[in-house]
Amino acid sequence: ATPLAIATSIREALERGIVVFDETIFERLRDVDLVVFDKTGTLTTGDMEVLDATGDKKTFERAALLEARSSHPIATAITDAYDIQPTDSKANTDAVASDGGVVDQSGDAVEGSLESKADTDSRVSSFESYATGVGGTVDGQTVLVGNPSLFAAQDWSVPSAYESTVERAHDEGNVPVIVGENGEATGIVVVGDNPREGWDETVDRLSARDIEVAILTGDNERAASTYGEHSGVDHVFAGVPPEAKAETVRQFGAGKQTVMVGDGTNDAPALAQADLGIALGSGTALAADAADAAIVTDDLDSLETVFELATAADSRVK
Ligand code: ADP
Ligand code: MG
Repeated sequence: ATPLAIATSIREALERGIVVFDETIFERLRDVDLVVFDKTGTLTTGDMEVLDATGDKKTFERAALLEARSSHPIATAITDAYDIQPTDSKANTDAVASDGGVVDQSGDAVEGSLESKADTDSRVSSFESYATGVGGTVDGQTVLVGNPSLFAAQDWSVPSAYESTVERAHDEGNVPVIVGENGEATGIVVVGDNPREGWDETVDRLSARDIEVAILTGDNERAASTYGEHSGVDHVFAGVPPEAKAETVRQFGAGKQTVMVGDGTNDAPALAQADLGIALGSGTALAADAADAAIVTDDLDSLETVFELATAADSRVK
């Protein structure tokens, strides 16, 4: 493709809500073998809401005070439900630094930025962010909020009565979030998320291009199955914490021209690791550094547009 053809494609992309950060993207899109999708916030809208909550009201409120420091879509759903104002400093407290540093899964927390927050909320005296939830001290109580796996990893007890709620949530494509205090689970919240419209068609179009499709998620196998069972999806990597996503892309993408599509909340390292990173959604500021392009329309269908523009750049010669 000539420089002029590339410039034309970049302009057309922009008109359709696709911001191209790296002009070589169109050339690199020519021989794509594999597209890896993040699940939450990418294949799903990430516009999550609390559907149901059973348990101790005080814990829910304390949990919400902690979630106010996280920018995860689940955190937003929980703070909305309890009418807690999010904090300004929350972008700094995500489980993964945008440079791909730090993190957790089984216990090594990332420090939140408490200083900037102390005056707005005196009830929270410590805060920790994990790949699968958040924790800290609220009203002098040790509080934990997150995936059942976080409770297992931290050795907190969870009543067996919660199991059926957890399973039902997964079966219905929802996310069970457990809250607890001082070593014990005291409540369970079911958070709903919805598939992004047309996600399956996007996958089918990639298959039609003979491109392999993989899903990479921090959620478990069961939660990922709604998407994984779709015929066009070739591989599912479930239970992968944010810091391990880049490594999965590196290993599985070895020898393949790989595109990673992520929502940017905590996908920056994986976006950077792939041969081509495409960030999706309006909240992609964090991932912009790591991505080669950003789809700001929130429309997954734009991925097909990106491929079409690459072809157009090639044919627009002389
Ligand atoms: P994905 O990889 O699909 O984008 P994430 O890695 O962001 O998903 O999250 C995986 C799981 O970790 C969530 O489904 C949830 O169970 C848990 N989790 C992550 N962050 C939070 C949080 N702030 N509060 C509660 N649960 C969380
Ligand atoms: Mg995500």
